[in-house]
Order: sequence, then structure tokens, then C-alpha cells
Amino acid sequence: MSVNGIEDPRPVVWFDIDNTLYSASTKISQAMGQRIHAYFVSLGLDEDDASELHHKYYTQYGLALRGLTRHHEIDPMDFDQKCDGTLPLEDLIQPSSSLRKLFQDIDRDKVRVWALTNAYKNHASRVLKILGLTDQIDGLVYCDYEEPNFTCKPEPEYYHNAMKRAGISDPSKCYFIDDSRLNVVSAKRLGWGRCVHFYETGLETVEGGKVKRLGLEGQQGTDEEGIEVISNLEQLRVIWTDIFTT
Ligand SMILES: [Mg+2]
Repeated sequence: MSVNGIEDPRPVVWFDIDNTLYSASTKISQAMGQRIHAYFVSLGLDEDDASELHHKYYTQYGLALRGLTRHHEIDPMDFDQKCDGTLPLEDLIQPSSSLRKLFQDIDRDKVRVWALTNAYKNHASRVLKILGLTDQIDGLVYCDYEEPNFTCKPEPEYYHNAMKRAGISDPSKCYFIDDSRLNVVSAKRLGWGRCVHFYETGLETVEGGKVKRLGLEGQQGTDEEGIEVISNLEQLRVIWTDIFTT
């Protein structure tokens, strides 16, 4: 944040939350997918049409809700309450001492640490609290479902807004990690400096209501877009070695 109009010179490390700060093995994306599917069905669609539209909106907009608010008269807050709001997160994720240590070992004299999510703030705050990371995050950029025309990753506007919120004008000063390749590629194309794709080989996630298997093929290392690919957050200590104290 700029204080007295002076820009904080420290770069920002942006962490996605869902399926990044906790593993896809929790199957939270599956539980989310089921709830979103039920929401589409509740609009009067049959099962097949609901699946198709859910996936179409996810693919087109990066977020099913973005399509729902554009093309249907729905209340995004009602959607959030019924979908993310009913997830039994406390049963599915636990605080992790190693994850907390990872955050504690980030040198705050050098960088700031923010979360960048497509969820609404309620869900984001809830996950951070359960993981015991609330005090490790300097700021949160979330999807503001209360805004009629809210933006989300991977839309460039969302990243521009995030930088504005954090008071950062040079995109090369952004570090970023996300489990969605689309989100990482979008950031990279906007000039975000140190982009990492979190890819848990051998697991399954649900994106847009469809199961996506994360293959075992050689995904590690730097790919053709210049994006680092890792399967364990501890690898950040090596990739971003300049920002860790130990
Ligand atoms: Mg994610």
C-alpha cells in the first residue's frame, strides 16, 4: 500500500488460494463442482444441460458465476452462500505447520505477500483462517460478487485491479503462483515477473464441473512460456530463493 503517496518498493508475491494453498487431494473442487451443478439444475435445467452450460461458462469466463450473472437473473450472493458457503471446509483441510513455516520464511523486508483468488472474500478468509495463514497475508484480492460487472482471473482487468490495490505499477515486480494454467499464462502475458504453475501430478481436479486428471508426464521445470512448473510448494524455496530468509 502506498503510504503518504509513496509507493511501497517491495515486490508482491501473489498466492492463489484454492487448490494451491491446499492440495487437490482434499477434493474440495469436486464438492464445489457438485454444488454449482445443483445450482444450475435449480435454474430449471436438466442434468445434461446443466453440465454443459456450467462447463461452457467456466471455459468462457474463467468462473461459472461470471456466466450466470451475465445471462441469468441470479443473485451472486445467494450463489456464493449455497455453493462455497456450504462447503464443509473444516472437515477437509487442516492447518499445516510446514505451510505456515514456508510463509514465515518469506523475507518481508524484501516482499509483501498477498492472496489473489476468484472466490468471494467469505470463502477466501475462511480458508486462510483454517490453514492458520491469516496473519501471514498482507492483503487479499477477491472476486467482488457484489459488483454487477465483477472481473475475475484470467481477465487482464482483474490483474490490473490487483496491482492497483497493492499499489504496484511495475508488473515485473509481481511473483505469482496458481494451479490454473490459464491464470498463470494470463499473468505472464501481462509481464508479471516470476510466474509459477502449481501442478500436482497424478491428482484429479474439477474445473467447470468436469474432472481433469493431472497427468504424470514430465511437467516439472520451465515450460515453453517461461513459466516454472512445480508440484510441491516447498519448491518455491528454490525457484524464488531470493525472497526466502533460510
Ligand atoms: Mg486455484
